[in-house]
Amino acid sequence: MPHRGDGPIPAKLMLVGEAWGKDEDDLGKPFVGYSGQELNRMLHEAGIMRSECFVTNVVNHRPPNNNLKEWIAFTKKAFNEAPKGTYVDWRGWKVKPIVVEGHRQLLAEIEMVQPNVIVAFGNLSLFALTQNTIKMGVKGPSGILKWRGSQLRMEGGDHMPKVIPTIHPAAVQREWSFRATVLNDLRRIKRHMNDRTYVKPAWNFTLRPTFPQVMQTLHWLKGQLDAGLLQWLELDLETRGGHISTCGISWTRVNAISIPFMCVERSDGYWPPEEESHIIYLLWKVLRHPKAKVRWQNGLYDAQYTYRHWHFVPNHEQDTMISQHMLWSDQPKRLDYQASMFCDWYVYWKDEGKNWDPRTTPEDVHWNYNCQDCVYTREAGEVELQIIDTYMERGSWPQAREIHNFQQAMFWPVLKAMQRGVRIIPENRNHLAMEVQEQIEHRKHLLFHMLGHDLNPRSNGPGGQMQRLFYEDLGQPIIWKRGEKGEPSRPTLDDDALNKIALREPLLKPLVNCISDIRTLEIFLGNFILAKLDVDGRMRCSYNIGGSESGKSAPKTYRLSSSTNAFGSGTNLQNIPSEKSKSVGKAEKRGHLAMLGDPYSLPNVRSLFGPDPGYTFFDLDLDRSDLQVVVWEVDDQMLKTALRMGVDIHLLNAFVIDGREPPPLEELVETHPKYLDHRGPMKYKREFAKVFCHASNFGGGAKKIAGELGRTIHEIDRAQRIWFDAHPGIKRWHEEIKDQVFKRRYIENKFGYRWYIFDRLDSIIPEAIGWIPQSTTSIVINKIWMNLYMNLPEVEVLLQVHDSLAGQYPTHMPQLRQRILDQSKIVIPYDDPLIIPTGIGTSEVTWGEC
Ligand code: URA
Repeated sequence: MPHRGDGPIPAKLMLVGEAWGKDEDDLGKPFVGYSGQELNRMLHEAGIMRSECFVTNVVNHRPPNNNLKEWIAFTKKAFNEAPKGTYVDWRGWKVKPIVVEGHRQLLAEIEMVQPNVIVAFGNLSLFALTQNTIKMGVKGPSGILKWRGSQLRMEGGDHMPKVIPTIHPAAVQREWSFRATVLNDLRRIKRHMNDRTYVKPAWNFTLRPTFPQVMQTLHWLKGQLDAGLLQWLELDLETRGGHISTCGISWTRVNAISIPFMCVERSDGYWPPEEESHIIYLLWKVLRHPKAKVRWQNGLYDAQYTYRHWHFVPNHEQDTMISQHMLWSDQPKRLDYQASMFCDWYVYWKDEGKNWDPRTTPEDVHWNYNCQDCVYTREAGEVELQIIDTYMERGSWPQAREIHNFQQAMFWPVLKAMQRGVRIIPENRNHLAMEVQEQIEHRKHLLFHMLGHDLNPRSNGPGGQMQRLFYEDLGQPIIWKRGEKGEPSRPTLDDDALNKIALREPLLKPLVNCISDIRTLEIFLGNFILAKLDVDGRMRCSYNIGGSESGKSAPKTYRLSSSTNAFGSGTNLQNIPSEKSKSVGKAEKRGHLAMLGDPYSLPNVRSLFGPDPGYTFFDLDLDRSDLQVVVWEVDDQMLKTALRMGVDIHLLNAFVIDGREPPPLEELVETHPKYLDHRGPMKYKREFAKVFCHASNFGGGAKKIAGELGRTIHEIDRAQRIWFDAHPGIKRWHEEIKDQVFKRRYIENKFGYRWYIFDRLDSIIPEAIGWIPQSTTSIVINKIWMNLYMNLPEVEVLLQVHDSLAGQYPTHMPQLRQRILDQSKIVIPYDDPLIIPTGIGTSEVTWGEC
């Protein structure tokens, strides 16, 4: 069987995979199995014919068990333990000789095929062709996810073929949302396949500037702004140890300056103080110029630095991260990703701006990256605005510009809250910390008594104390956690595993509960009660309009994520335990520890936060927002009437599911004298209805709900039939969403916000159904926040958590309470317009008492 590539010789385009799989091995040809079929489809969509490509692999053989690890010592451990004799050194790696031989053959094929462009699919091919990649044992985005889309070249000079790496088709099949990215790369590849030249931008960066150079540049920029010849400026700060180390500014796609403030050679700063203050003064003149529009990536981060160190905030106009989020809410938001999708010229320029190490990289390289950040931000930002213009011109997304402007404008109210921070009441903080610490100690004592030795519940790794206890001493059957892609499964004792053990072995329940409690309490203590405060004793969190970069915050719902701020203060407030939160729910479910007496419930962490002297705290909460949106989407008259009347919907639903005629609606309002008579006998049915209806409205299937509620599938199936018969609009709504998703690949809410779906469509429907009420609610909250910011300057919004906004207003202006409520009437533009009712609580003492 021939172990080589396949395709025309010569060919303009060469595709290089990693190694054969089973199908390739059977047929003796590369890319003929599932990956190959996906590859063919993607090539076709990008307008490339497979028949014009020479297709091959780094190794045209199949690795044992289909696993490249059998050939290459990928991890540090494998590298160190690789037995001499079977492995050979290859470009700094230890590999089996077959890889070296494959690589030699690949080079010979390239020589023969003479391609203009080589597409490197996956890490191994990227590494074999460019050496640009993977550091051993590095976690996080691997080499290919960083380098993909880059316009590279094989070693040897400009006459050598170009190399453009992209994600392997097999990875696309595992992670479908990569597909759009690969298509983008393939389109770039198509543009490049006709010759071996690259047209690189003629970047003109001023690095290591002198004082006169900085003065001249800033005066010139100011002059251009005065004369109306310039509007957009890109700004990017690099920071070190809480200080601004350099400030990059660009004014075209090729011109930029990096103005350093710190440098390795001079520990007291790059400039003498006098010169530095001149520069900052001019920076203020330029960046706060009435005609300047500042564009940046993640400006909310940089603004914290300019405000703290320079005492001004540049004229924010466009944050590329917000633009990207508004356009494709769950795609990556890193600047390098945006550049790879939008910029004509793109080579991954490493994130050394962020992780710069002076021992290995000269400072000029760091400053050069700073300038590249600016020019890439400019081009990406311009393209994003063009995309919005195109939507508008074609009429295919009429609200696009308005939404973009609103999302960008949210920068100001959010920054205001971040700057102001919240007063923390030290006595309450100490008190809560002591209380929770005491509870932890009780449980630790109890553990000691049960076990006869100490146990650290966080020692959870392989061979750690927890695994030794449960899997060795107590002989429990091991519970496995599936490994991340390519990694083997491993024993776990996470919360779910502990629950499983407690169910399996009731005798162990007290032990398990004790451990779970300690974990919950320690997280509660560390993450919330003892979250780091700023130097003035206030808590300042950072909010992110585009959600967190990790994507964990489900950014597509437009809910702001929060985290520690640029200086380490604050926490993720969205995780603050409430009655609805998971940790509290789980703790309650576990029940109390009989040996410790009364059950202990987590204290109200909101009592840490207090108003400033002379201010009153308020907490503005949307009332059952998700439910209201669903009812209006479904346009269900009975439920609308019930909601308008303030009926206890869960109780009403309990009657419906029970197949009984509900009492007159007014009797189901909590204040009605007969309410309790109706509710009493229906207590458990009401609880069932609450969970069941929510899950069914959100597209949950009978099997899943049965699992959650501990009922049989048959019971749930029957209840769903009754429920959907009584409210036929719900099923219709689900079908409409499905239809929208399959026809348009996006879903849109009543405000016109969209979620473009890059994942597999068939498995996404329940999430798409949930997205409508979730995103609508988040947008209502953001709109209220904006109204308060624009119309009630005396009111300070300080916190946004779950479905509420909290803040303070001057106590001597009690009329503001009503005005806040007035400003919170956001009309959701249904044919029958909906305003989600809001409740407000106030306190002069703490947030917890609102
Ligand atoms: N994966 C590869 O990398 N190459 C093939 O030929 C098939 C699957």
